[in-house]
Amino acid sequence: MKIAVVGTGYVGLVTGTCFAETGNQVTCVDIDANKVARMQRGEIPIFEPGLEVLFVRNIAEERLKFTTSLSEGIQDAEVIFLALPTPPGEDGSADLKYILGVAQELGPLLEDYVVVIDKSTVPVGTAEKVREKIAQNAKVDFDVVSNPEFLREGVAVEDFMKPDRVVVGTSSENAKKVMEKLYSPLLRQGNPIIFMDERSAEMTKYAANSFLAMKITFMNEIANLCERLGANVDDVRKGIGTDSRIGKRFLFAGIGYGGSCFPKDVQALAKTSQDYGYDFRTLHAVMAVNNDQKTKLIPAITEYFGGSLSGKTIAVWGLAFKPYTDDIREAPALENIRILTAAGANVAVYDPEAMDNVKQLLPDITYCHTAYAALDDADALMIFTEWPQFRTPDFDKMSKLLKAKVVFDGRNLYEISTMRELGFTYFSIGREAVN
Ligand code: NAD
Repeated sequence: MKIAVVGTGYVGLVTGTCFAETGNQVTCVDIDANKVARMQRGEIPIFEPGLEVLFVRNIAEERLKFTTSLSEGIQDAEVIFLALPTPPGEDGSADLKYILGVAQELGPLLEDYVVVIDKSTVPVGTAEKVREKIAQNAKVDFDVVSNPEFLREGVAVEDFMKPDRVVVGTSSENAKKVMEKLYSPLLRQGNPIIFMDERSAEMTKYAANSFLAMKITFMNEIANLCERLGANVDDVRKGIGTDSRIGKRFLFAGIGYGGSCFPKDVQALAKTSQDYGYDFRTLHAVMAVNNDQKTKLIPAITEYFGGSLSGKTIAVWGLAFKPYTDDIREAPALENIRILTAAGANVAVYDPEAMDNVKQLLPDITYCHTAYAALDDADALMIFTEWPQFRTPDFDKMSKLLKAKVVFDGRNLYEISTMRELGFTYFSIGREAVN
């Protein structure tokens, strides 16, 4: 098939590259001329495991192209994906200016029947708005389909190539056939393509992300209570996760969720609810708890240093909002570092992939080439992202480099018994402090 993808961020570039990999002819359109020039030179603009090899191969085999021109990009396309940003507006609702702006431009450019696919996370009713915008200037027939994306950054290629399910919102039989043809190579194992109306598909994405954010947040509150009661949240997690009604995933306690999706999607669903006269109380609780959870270790470290962090050197491991990505949007690490530096601490950081992105926002902290370099002469280590390489460090080396063996771990990477045996002072989430 001939496919256009508008927007080449984490979702658009994965969508375009993976559909090229299944033999389609894909043109990706982006407004960012610098990014397009880099991609035309064969440079991948984001870090996403497994993507680069597909990106390079499909460019070489001439199935994947890039342009800044919408009219050139959609030439002869049978489907047009919209993978555009939907950031929160001032009132928390999803800002549709990118989606509706492109929809407006598309109308006069269409020359033949096409299926326009909303891949962005968009509020209920957006497919209708997109249809209206295009229809204002279109001379040909077209369909607008809602096809929310469920990929996770860090494992996006795997998620895209083998999705648990594909959700498609449409009432058009023609569009259904096109979507079946497009996705059938990805669903060979028998995972379903679930058809529904556009509004239900749009709602499905918000319900999924809000539920997952709630699951994490619930576990974080259990952790906070475990600390007060002398229970261990990791044992509680195993105890409940083995119940098939609950499931093992998304139960790890920590310093809260971040990223470009959960915070904005929970906020947007709460705003939609409010607009429709419904007070979605669990979502408000999720946002409030997560907000507090992100900086939960700050009072502990401040108290540990007798009420002041001034002049202390704090090593930080992990900046990205989760491992295997360079994405730092809403990453808890950033807020923590801002508080540490405002309190007069010197901060030395290491992250395997996200340092370049953070340098632009926080130019005045120290960036280190290795995790151990960040520890050199530091008064304490704080851990904000669970990169696997932090899980089994050389504790002897850590002990020698740190001024004192003090670790504040926002991701529960180490066993309490190990840290006690090694003589570390160790604070984590939902477990006893080792002091
Ligand atoms: P992103 O910010 O990484 O990428 C968006 C891209 O769109 C950028 O490259 C930008 O330059 C481009 N763009 C902006 N205006 C444009 C225009 N007028 N024409 C062409 N290109 C334009 O965003 P993302 O993380 O890929 O997310 C896109 C959508 O997918 C959002 O609605 C998001 O909620 C949703 N989503 C994201 C994820 C994720 O993990 N990132 C997962 C599922 C769904």
